[in-house]
Amino acid sequence: MSTKTVQVGRFEIGGPNFVVIAGPCSVESKDQFLTTAEAVKSAGALMLRGGIFKLRTKPDTFQGLGSEAFALVKEVKHQTQMPFFSEITDPRQVGDLMDVVDVFQVGSRNMHNYALLKELGQVDKPVLLKRGFSGRIDEWIHAAEYVSSSGNPQVILCERGIRTFETKTRNTFDVNAIAYVKQHTSLPVIADPSHATGRSELVTPVALAAAAAGADGLIVEVHPNPPSALSDGEQALDFQSFSQLMSRLEKVLIALDRRLAPSW
Ligand code: PEP
Ligand code: MN
Repeated sequence: MSTKTVQVGRFEIGGPNFVVIAGPCSVESKDQFLTTAEAVKSAGALMLRGGIFKLRTKPDTFQGLGSEAFALVKEVKHQTQMPFFSEITDPRQVGDLMDVVDVFQVGSRNMHNYALLKELGQVDKPVLLKRGFSGRIDEWIHAAEYVSSSGNPQVILCERGIRTFETKTRNTFDVNAIAYVKQHTSLPVIADPSHATGRSELVTPVALAAAAAGADGLIVEVHPNPPSALSDGEQALDFQSFSQLMSRLEKVLIALDRRLAPSW
């Protein structure tokens, strides 16, 4: 089925060009966020990610800077001109996040949160819908329909790994899902090799596999000093590993007659 593109700022996702979104799991400080944004941009990423409200498994771990991050995120966006993706964890955050994010991310834990999906059906901004870690492909597609049937057709799917019996990796990347949604839906789909593996050394190979399977892009976690990250340090790439991922990705895309969206 042909993919309908979703416009994000002056770029599109789901068109002929492959799009890379990168940034830290969590926005931690102005310095951390700005240096990461500049590094990923110079390596060829077009868009920026960064968690502000974090849904953590353990309540005593870092929960994100919350509204304290708004001003610094706006400054970094202004300086880099990169469209920004961040997770919305509660329908009551729509108003505040509206002038901070360019794309509302729905996290894996909220794929079944129909109140949140319907609320995002009322906004005029794209929604990145992550697959629930226990969500079947049909449930994920129906979750996307909650957003579109409430009035917002700008939905991008994201495969981020599912829970299986395997424990060597945080999740199991379901490459089938990428191929399936490309062939059976008209929604763009991107891959998140960071959460899909949970291990930085596996991020590049899985990213390349996703591109080969037909993904429209990637969302990748990058941190200036992964061991010191306040969340998801084990899966974050440092700047050098991210640049290596980008150069290997370009070669895979060329072999597939595709290319990276023109960079800055
Ligand atoms: C994230 O992107 O940082 C995140 C929490 O992802 P997921 O919802 O896929 O676990
Ligand atoms: Mn993360």
